[in-house]
Amino acid sequence: MRQTNIFDFLIESFTDNISNVEDTRKQRTNLVYSLKDIILSAFSVFYFQNKSCLSFQRDIDTRKGISNAQTMFGISDIPSDNHIRNMLDKITPNSFKKVYEIILDKLRDIGILDKFYFKDDYMLVALDGTHYHSSKNISCKCCQSKTNSDTGEVHYYHSVITPTIVHPDIKKVMSRLHN
Ligand SMILES: [Zn+2]
Repeated sequence: MRQTNIFDFLIESFTDNISNVEDTRKQRTNLVYSLKDIILSAFSVFYFQNKSCLSFQRDIDTRKGISNAQTMFGISDIPSDNHIRNMLDKITPNSFKKVYEIILDKLRDIGILDKFYFKDDYMLVALDGTHYHSSKNISCKCCQSKTNSDTGEVHYYHSVITPTIVHPDIKKVMSRLHN
């Protein structure tokens, strides 16, 4: 299977899954952007790995009437960055857990996962971790926290472990889902 077909399969599985995500907007009529456009726009930022990518895509969109976001991801209209952020805040990552499993099964079926076996039935997993929220003022019920023993000040944060399947002979890596 060619790379582009895997990409199409990924977008198709991802898009199918969006119908299971609850649209929390109260006003359901006259919505400018569909939930699909919002979620796929956010996903495309990670794909292009450039946070200013969407404004770039919007410029092309205005000038030429077509953009990568539309042709590659099937996005009709690109929402503003703020609108994407506000909407994403209300969506749990668990909504997309199933997509990860579907993609992993596909990679197994077409033999790509097999290439990552390093020794016998074992794969190498590189572990890293990072904080993706850090604040003394803003917190949620899922926050981790640290209290300064001198000042009593509370620091709220979210952290994540990012396991990645790697192989010394392969330049690409695969992120590994974890709970
Ligand atoms: Zn939090």
